[in-house]
Amino acid sequence: MENTNPVGIDLGLDSFVAVSDGTKIGKPNFMQQKRKKIAKWQKIVARRNKGSKRRERAKARLQRTYEYSTSQSDDYLHKLSDTLVNSGYTSFAVEDLHIQNMVKNCRLAGSIQDASWNRFIQLLSYKAESAGLGVVKVDAKNTSKECSNCGNIQEMPLSERTYICNRCGMQKDRDINASINILNRATLGQRGSHAQGDNIRPQQEATIEELRTDKTHPLQDAVIA
Ligand SMILES: [Zn+2]
Repeated sequence: MENTNPVGIDLGLDSFVAVSDGTKIGKPNFMQQKRKKIAKWQKIVARRNKGSKRRERAKARLQRTYEYSTSQSDDYLHKLSDTLVNSGYTSFAVEDLHIQNMVKNCRLAGSIQDASWNRFIQLLSYKAESAGLGVVKVDAKNTSKECSNCGNIQEMPLSERTYICNRCGMQKDRDINASINILNRATLGQRGSHAQGDNIRPQQEATIEELRTDKTHPLQDAVIA
């Protein structure tokens, strides 16, 4: 199949995922509730005396809460990945979570969030490949800090929801901007740009492999973890 409609997907900050065509998919409420419930039962377990029956009961309750939430979020992630695979996109560029994991863990202090993102990428990759669609994993380092229009890198505190480039003036939702960067990294070296606007400058046309070995390339820092 021709790769006529590739998209980048960012695992968002205030969205669950953001797609480079401008689509944002919100965090489902139950994920928030799940986190609260699990935290509550973890506290109760910690409070109770070791070896006591009450502690054992609380532990069982925590385990059930965890299992129930996991199956609920699995349903959601199945639906979400089905929807994306059936939306007419021809390939997906996603974050390589193995590279970013440590940053994410301390940034969001959320192993539950990480687990659902991991699961989402696993499901999406499997379904996309079964449907004959491509999946490219890229190093997502600095995708939030980089301007998807001019390549400028600037600090983006978590409170900033909009990327306002202090070099070219571009304004975009922070997660959508990141998803366009993810797409651009996956499509480097291919002709043309599929993001909003022509974001790939000619001097950046190189494959990810070339960038990894070219120490002088301007994107070297962005591509190598
Ligand atoms: Zn810019």
